[in-house]
Amino acid sequence: MLSEKREMLVLDTTLRDGEQTPGVSLTPPEKLEIAKALDDLGVDIIEAGSAITSEGEREGIKCIASEGLRAEIASYSRIIQGDINLAMKCDVDSIFLVSPTSDLHIRYKLGMERDELLEKTLESIQYCKDHGLVVDLCCEDGSRTDIDFLEKLLLSASEQGIDRFTVADTVGIMTPEKTGAVFSKLSGVSGIPLGVHCHDDLGLATANTLAAVLNGAEVVNVTVNGLGERAGNAPMEEVVMALSLGYGIETRIQKEKLGPVSDLVEKICGIPVPPNKAIVGENAFTHEAGIHVDGILKKPETYEAIKPELVGRRRSFVLGKHVGLKSVEKALGELDIKVNDETIREISNKVKYMGDKGKKVTSTDLEVIARSVLGEDMEHALYLDELVAVAGNKITPTASVKVKINGNEVVESAVGTGPVDAAINAIRNATRDIPFELVEYHVDSISGGTEAVVQVSIKLKSRDRIITASGAGADIVLASVDAMIAGINSIARRLD
Ligand code: MN
Repeated sequence: MLSEKREMLVLDTTLRDGEQTPGVSLTPPEKLEIAKALDDLGVDIIEAGSAITSEGEREGIKCIASEGLRAEIASYSRIIQGDINLAMKCDVDSIFLVSPTSDLHIRYKLGMERDELLEKTLESIQYCKDHGLVVDLCCEDGSRTDIDFLEKLLLSASEQGIDRFTVADTVGIMTPEKTGAVFSKLSGVSGIPLGVHCHDDLGLATANTLAAVLNGAEVVNVTVNGLGERAGNAPMEEVVMALSLGYGIETRIQKEKLGPVSDLVEKICGIPVPPNKAIVGENAFTHEAGIHVDGILKKPETYEAIKPELVGRRRSFVLGKHVGLKSVEKALGELDIKVNDETIREISNKVKYMGDKGKKVTSTDLEVIARSVLGEDMEHALYLDELVAVAGNKITPTASVKVKINGNEVVESAVGTGPVDAAINAIRNATRDIPFELVEYHVDSISGGTEAVVQVSIKLKSRDRIITASGAGADIVLASVDAMIAGINSIARRLD
């Protein structure tokens, strides 16, 4: 049985393998911002990039290395002196030295034989050690490398003074059993810490990483949100939480920062996290089904094995066709709308009806439904009279609005990064007396094509209250303004 006190190291490669995600390219300041967040999160080793890549990449790595972070800063490098020299110029602490070890790579990619590859690898290690660098020897395509050759490499590289030995499942073809067998064999060979680097081509990156750890690996290579080449790398949030909750194996990662760091990486890299993504997806702690909501309100553990606060998230409830009376009652309570049991049933049926039509039910929708069931008039403090938004290639996006607030006409204008931003800023300027902030803005295109209807969903926060609203139409600016006005009216009704 494994000791639960084992020291696990987390090597984060969001800035190297993660940046190899198609469509991701980071500037030096962006890399530095992510590196600082990773350091603050508790990552042990940050693979900051690959120095050979470009001038900008070297600038980014150098910035990170000179920041004085607690984490060890590494650069990826091939078994080529030129690569190592460039990495050293960036002042890194260590080299993630990648040697392609499968016969497929040795013969077809490098045109070499095993002995020659071994010799070049050992020479590169010696070169790094001569320059005082920490060396993590990574066997590229290690999962398809003959196990005897892997053992031979580990043994000779250990004698050459490497600090860590990593096996990469570069093409993501492993299974947990096979990974376990490889690590169990290698863990007896030398005292050098073993690292595991998995890809998610079969959706097994996390499972394979865990199997490696259970068979002796002490360094896990991960990326935030599972970014990385093709299907991505093992996601840090999954590996860290599964090790902790599943096996009692702890890392130095401060788990409550996993959520915020995921958000930061999503924003900077521009790769959206799928809503159903484990641990950090928007739906990971969101409940809709009536039975679940009822259970959670009685005792959260009934349907939440992982506490959202543990990973820096909050629980949320949404209304839709699976809604139950308890969720409707709770949502109405948050809007200070009091109703009897019979009315709740009627409101709930109308929510289900909207859900059946495929619509997301926002808190302002719920209010409209409740008021109509109760036969009450809705007061609207804010009305839109006129909206003009202009944008183009030679103009700063500008918008002006004429609105009525409690019967008084107000005209305001604003500029923005685009017409939507300008229009929302103009609305914001016209409603300065109403305290709120826009905390979320999201657009869905309901059909394809440029004539598509879009649905804009927003979340406003006013004091401690969260209001959700939506607007739809073919005009994205108008749909956004409609959503804002619906949300602001809902807030205004609740101010004294
Ligand atoms: Mn990789």
